[in-house]
Amino acid sequence: MSSSAAKLGIESSIKPKPKLRALLVEDNQLDAELVLRALRKDSFEVSAVIVQDEAGFTEALRTHSPEIVLADYNLPNWTGMEALTVLRLQSLDIPMILVSGALGDVTAVECIKQGATDYVLKDGLARLPEVVRRALKEKYERGLRHQAEEKLAKKVDELARSNADLEQFAYVASHDLQEPLRMVAAYTQLLSERYKGKLDESADKFIGYASEGALRMQVLIQDLLAFSRVGRVDADYASVDCNAVMEEVRKSLASAIQESDAVLAHADLPAIWGNPTQMAQVFQNLIGNAIKFRGTKPPEIFVHAERAGQQWLFSVTDNGIGIAPEFAENIFVVFQRLHPRTEYSGNGIGLAICKKIVERLGGKIWVESQAGSGSTFKFTVPLNGSKEKGGQA
Ligand code: ADP
Repeated sequence: MSSSAAKLGIESSIKPKPKLRALLVEDNQLDAELVLRALRKDSFEVSAVIVQDEAGFTEALRTHSPEIVLADYNLPNWTGMEALTVLRLQSLDIPMILVSGALGDVTAVECIKQGATDYVLKDGLARLPEVVRRALKEKYERGLRHQAEEKLAKKVDELARSNADLEQFAYVASHDLQEPLRMVAAYTQLLSERYKGKLDESADKFIGYASEGALRMQVLIQDLLAFSRVGRVDADYASVDCNAVMEEVRKSLASAIQESDAVLAHADLPAIWGNPTQMAQVFQNLIGNAIKFRGTKPPEIFVHAERAGQQWLFSVTDNGIGIAPEFAENIFVVFQRLHPRTEYSGNGIGLAICKKIVERLGGKIWVESQAGSGSTFKFTVPLNGSKEKGGQA
């Protein structure tokens, strides 16, 4: 061995052993000594308390704060597994290892199923340190996992709260802005009616811009209000026959269908758990868009649904102008549009409303499309209703 290796050897041999507070449930003093000797040999600096019954065990939990429990399976007045019950009742996550003279495989498996961490036979105590080390490591990792889960749950809570605040803000802002805006719109309208042609040409133009702007802002505010209402209204949830919803939507869009020569067809659609008005909003927005964003040919729109695991998968397919894949997510964001209003009317709120409704039902919505080759909007709805089934939407 080289001198440096020898030095290393010396260093590792003088490395302090980790401390371990152990609680032994054992009636045989000699066996307890053997267990402690196995742990102390090369592995741990052990401080131990040895008990034989429930009273002693409970007291030692309080005074000794053990990191590990090593319990004999059979004791004259108690059993090791009962120690586990005490740990559970006190909500203590302390690994418990059974150390027993003889424990059949079936019993051992049963004990582990009931919560024992592991077991070691008394004639195989050499493996005890390794078993203890593993149990402590697992407990440490459990702790880390638990901490990470708690952190995540806190973040989810914070996010939900900040979303609720934002929603509340959007609602109050859009609601309270309506009244002053109505005044601005009404008076610019009045100005334009009363003074048109009486001032100079620029004045006419400016009044025209102001009144157009006010009207436009009114529409935007109404859209925003409609969007924030999706999350506020106590929606009545019920079984919704989507075939009936489709017929309602067909009636609402009758003039757009007629003007564009659109062909709207649907397969047999299922009944889902949701709110009929909101489901009609989803279909109407998607089908309305399929008509609005048509190409040179008359629109052909097909609505279909199929089961996909625990969900209904709906699709609305059109032969319109399509969407480049890089915009596939943006279009679901409030007020995001891909075209100027002079080209296609609209404010960019329809898909954001669809997304909110579908997500509140516990589903997802997305688009599959290529620019110039039609689009298929897909959304899922859980078979058995949403997480908020029957509750507040
Ligand atoms: P709006 O229709 O008022 O613009 P939406 O939120 O409904 O608002 O749609 C957002 C954008 O997504 C649209 O402006 C359009 O660019 C694109 N889009 C939606 N549906 C379709 C469709 N069926 N085909 C092509 N583009 C679409």
